[in-house]
Amino acid sequence: MASILFIHAHPDDAEILAGGTLALLAQAGNEITIVTMTPGDCGTTEYGPEEISAIRRREAAAAASHIGAHYICAEFRDMAIFNDDRSRRCVTELLRRVRPDLVITASPADYHCDHEATSILVRDACFGASAPNYKTCQAPEAEALPAIPHLYFADSVGGVSRFGIVIEPDFFIDVKSTFAIKREMLAKHASQREWLKRQHGINDYIETMEDWTRSRGRLAGIEYAEGFRRYPGHPYPQTPLLEELLGSRVIIHVPQ
Ligand SMILES: [Zn+2]
Repeated sequence: MASILFIHAHPDDAEILAGGTLALLAQAGNEITIVTMTPGDCGTTEYGPEEISAIRRREAAAAASHIGAHYICAEFRDMAIFNDDRSRRCVTELLRRVRPDLVITASPADYHCDHEATSILVRDACFGASAPNYKTCQAPEAEALPAIPHLYFADSVGGVSRFGIVIEPDFFIDVKSTFAIKREMLAKHASQREWLKRQHGINDYIETMEDWTRSRGRLAGIEYAEGFRRYPGHPYPQTPLLEELLGSRVIIHVPQ
């Protein structure tokens, strides 16, 4: 059993990009924590920032508890996640408190500034979390991690960078058996229906997620899939922990 941290920018990113995989990991008895960097305070035209934040924290917590996962909001704000000194120390403290063996975060290249900033902050916090002399932003500080956790990236939204460059996953996870759970998790984010229609031109956000998960499946030669990459940088662990935890569900991607 492993402690797994999925940390991404906004409420609903986890469910869209990795809900099926997180459900599989939870079913296998792993301890899952889902963190959103922000409470999604700008994802609305109907409510003020405090109101929508309260709604979306509740939605994200309900989605997480649907698979028995914990939920934490890191309380950054939308469009205000930056790769700076204080933010790196705060994300490091969060990692030390959750104490994950394995971290999955946003793609380093993605459509949204918050996704890209989250990816860099989490990558570097994984390093800092195991350096005892690196001070965090909160007291009392949690103890440093014994080692750098395994680090993986989820797919970018749409599988491309903001310039349309295709980002190939290293491997896919077959999420057919947990796809219904993924749908139910995403459906908890009901506040996003109107916002996604207006801002993103997305008519039905659950259908859009289904189309996306099917398109990943087509690339993998199966019905439904989610893609991931292992961070290859030194000195992060390179043993395939996520692949080992998911066993027969893993399909290695061979780009055409
Ligand atoms: Zn997002």
